[in-house]
Amino acid sequence: MNLSIIKITFTFRELIQIAASGVMIFGIGLMILGGFQILENKLLLIQNAFAYSSVGFIIYWLSSYWGKPAGIKNDGVWFKAVSSRKWIAWLLAIVLTSFYCILYWFPEYLGYNEKGNTGFVAFFDPLSYYLKNKAASQWFVYGVLYTWAILLFGIKFIIKYRHSRYQILRTLSVMFFQTAFAFIIPEFLQRMNLPYHDYKNIWPLNYYFFDGWHLDEMLMNGKIGYWMLMSGILMILIGSPILTFLFGKRWYCSWICGCGGLAETAGDAFRQLSDKSVKAWKLERIIIYSILLFVIAMTGGVIYTYITGELYLLGISTDKIRSIYGFAIGATFSGVIGVGFYPLLGSRVWCRFGCPMAAILGIQQRFFSRFRITTNGGQCISCGNCSSYCEMGIDVRSYAQNGKNIVRASCVGCGICAAVCPRGVLKLENGTIDLFNRVENPYLKNPPTTNS
Ligand code: SF4
Ligand code: SF4
Repeated sequence: MNLSIIKITFTFRELIQIAASGVMIFGIGLMILGGFQILENKLLLIQNAFAYSSVGFIIYWLSSYWGKPAGIKNDGVWFKAVSSRKWIAWLLAIVLTSFYCILYWFPEYLGYNEKGNTGFVAFFDPLSYYLKNKAASQWFVYGVLYTWAILLFGIKFIIKYRHSRYQILRTLSVMFFQTAFAFIIPEFLQRMNLPYHDYKNIWPLNYYFFDGWHLDEMLMNGKIGYWMLMSGILMILIGSPILTFLFGKRWYCSWICGCGGLAETAGDAFRQLSDKSVKAWKLERIIIYSILLFVIAMTGGVIYTYITGELYLLGISTDKIRSIYGFAIGATFSGVIGVGFYPLLGSRVWCRFGCPMAAILGIQQRFFSRFRITTNGGQCISCGNCSSYCEMGIDVRSYAQNGKNIVRASCVGCGICAAVCPRGVLKLENGTIDLFNRVENPYLKNPPTTNS
């Protein structure tokens, strides 16, 4: 009888990865134990849970990328279950969409209770008391996890794209704006009994900015409230158009916005899943501009009600329209679908098909901005890396092959197409003003017949 002994050998890299996974699992385990209140909820516990899991993740990524070329490598992206819509991707999508549904509509299952939290929300109470002297809400929990995800995956992104100064700087930027503007400043404002306010969340992305309760909240808080109102309006009318004219929509979508920040960092593994077909492009324009019209009409309605006190405009309840927008677009599209479907539809579904802010910036970028991606067509070897990894579904290669500049409304200026091009064909530029000479779209003359 033959007895065979299976000999398993590990490389040094694998040993480090196994150790890092252990630390990561230990940290996540602490979170779960804290969530079920098996361990007492002390500030130290939450600190340890986040510290251990973060250190575990970072060591794992460092050991994975160390000694390998920087940037995207086409080494099995379409074969890994998580990045090619196989079972792990579906499982992740189910977990994420379920989490968003509970967060928006059933927060009591997370343990949220106005009279005293339990479960997972209670786990965050110590941190919430520390920051704003109040018990946590489900939104506080979401804010912590969202910021943590951007910081953590931001570090991974920087390790991965360490060869590109543009990618490092813009990732540091989204990490900063999320941490300071979307998390710390609003929490301290609440600690000082001032309204919650995220200065970088501009209307129409911030669709409640002109709601009656929000206007009242700002107007009742003296100078700082007036500053919030005026700075918000000035950003819509002056700041945003000037910045888009100078830099294209990237100043917001890829450098500041929290939705874009999460897509660029936590969603990086899924950027190749965006649909590059002309059909998707047509659908994108119909949906995003319909939502833009919807938010303008909805906002007009709530302002009309605020000024006149009339609840109906043209026989339609302005409050009802507001509720429909909040449910269908503000929660379902931007959250449940926008993030929950990362592993299936790519990381920029919301930015590409739904965000009314992106729609406004896109119109301006297309017709009135200095931003464009220039192409050196003679150098292109048609490898298709740029199209594959464009998260906005732009067939970059067809522009490069035709030697035409890219001036597309949807381009968020992430620069990944340029970062993955092996021939240095693409360059993001804020060039000389060419307002009356914006390049024609190559699709109009030479429509592609395939997705890539
Ligand atoms: S065209 Fe390039 S810069 Fe624009 S969204 Fe696509 S990958 Fe990003
Ligand atoms: S532009 Fe660069 S990445 Fe895109 S197809 Fe040409 S050589 Fe490949």
